[in-house]
Amino acid sequence: MDIQKDCVVSFHYRLSNSEGTELETSRNGDPVAYLHGRRGVIRGLEEAMTGKSQGDIFTADVPAAKAYGARKEGSIQRVPIKHLLTKGRLKPGMTVKINTDNGPRDVTVVKVGKFNVDVDANHPLAGMDLSFDIEIIDVRAASSEELAHGHAHGVGGHQH
Ligand code: ZN
Repeated sequence: MDIQKDCVVSFHYRLSNSEGTELETSRNGDPVAYLHGRRGVIRGLEEAMTGKSQGDIFTADVPAAKAYGARKEGSIQRVPIKHLLTKGRLKPGMTVKINTDNGPRDVTVVKVGKFNVDVDANHPLAGMDLSFDIEIIDVRAASSEELAHGHAHGVGGHQH
């Protein structure tokens, strides 16, 4: 089937910045699965996926505006270290997860104190034009449970 609203898509990706430097890849693990049409992936990637099918290999160039948006100034926040979801030694420049009202969020460590850490709440990929090398591994209809939850289950999706 072609990728359309409410199907579950499994894919491998290699994410690069506009200079061609690899930032992330799914190739060292399972493919990623998401429910199409429910904002499970960034907007520009979802647009590029629409109409593709199993076995398709393509590159999606996604401008920052359709990825993680522009960087916002004044986004430095002081957070108690005990509120970080990421455990272990902290150093400036690393990405950590914090809990927000909208769920867990990736932020970048700016400065580490004894009890608090200053983080930049911009998404680490904010302001960046991105390029995704995509291979569609599988496309299937979503189950009624997945539709009710609004996300994909199983390998590469939500585990619960
Ligand atoms: Zn679920």
